[in-house]
Amino acid sequence: MSETTTPVSVTFWGTRGSISTPGGSTEKYGGNTPCVSVRCGRSSIILDAGTGIRVLGIRLASQIHSEGPSAQHILLSHTHWDHIQGLPFFQPAYIKGTDLVIYGSAQKERFLESILSGQMDLNYFPVQMKELAANVSIREFEDRFMTIGDIHIEMQEQILHPGGSIRFKITAGGRKIVYATDVELNAAFDPAEPTRETRRLAEEYSAFIRDADLLIGDGQYSGSEYAFKKGWGHTSVPLLLEVAHAAHVRQLAVFHHDPEHSDAYFDTLEQQFGPAYRNAAPAMHVFWAREGITIDL
Ligand SMILES: [Zn+2]
Ligand SMILES: [Zn+2]
Repeated sequence: MSETTTPVSVTFWGTRGSISTPGGSTEKYGGNTPCVSVRCGRSSIILDAGTGIRVLGIRLASQIHSEGPSAQHILLSHTHWDHIQGLPFFQPAYIKGTDLVIYGSAQKERFLESILSGQMDLNYFPVQMKELAANVSIREFEDRFMTIGDIHIEMQEQILHPGGSIRFKITAGGRKIVYATDVELNAAFDPAEPTRETRRLAEEYSAFIRDADLLIGDGQYSGSEYAFKKGWGHTSVPLLLEVAHAAHVRQLAVFHHDPEHSDAYFDTLEQQFGPAYRNAAPAMHVFWAREGITIDL
């Protein structure tokens, strides 16, 4: 099978931002914090290790028990709690013979390894990172580009988030997927005072997502909420939609849901914005990312 015809699938294991939100009003879109897996043939990667990675880990562990050890590659956008908190509950980490490779930004004051092992300090968690049975290796990104099996990844720093974060452009099976969460696009595309730097940041983002088959984008706030959340590092829904459409994105998964938002609210947003973008030229399919769903591209 040639690379361009290899099916690519994306599964959402956690879609909530900031903190997990179990309960009756979040059942449909999910309460776990960010984790997304991308598969292309026999190659796969995991984006972020929020609480959603626990369920993925259970699935992978049973696969490992029946098919033997495998390598797991986890790419972290950044190390805020909601993106790393599931890591100590990732079952393959406790299976001997598993190669667990965790990648993250080098643009931190502390070495990535000390941040990750810090959350497993005995004061916070009963098992320390060095006690994990898997062969754990923690790597800081050295280059903008990386290849894992048939999956090619390009990284770009996002400075419009407290402490920064990284966005990933994933090319696999002839498809292009962009994972760009935890970024305040309003500060680049709609600043109070545009500067050469804000224009540059906006252009850089648009070029990165252009013609994506799927963009998983930060859309935490409504337009009116954003007015009170400036500088918090997240984007408003109307702006994300506008920017994605202008860059000819084919499918947009609104991601990093606000903990205060309910299933009923997302249904309303989908009805409010979905049809106009589906019928626009070019058409863009907008949906609110739901925990447990798989998108085949
Ligand atoms: Zn986050
Ligand atoms: Zn963050």
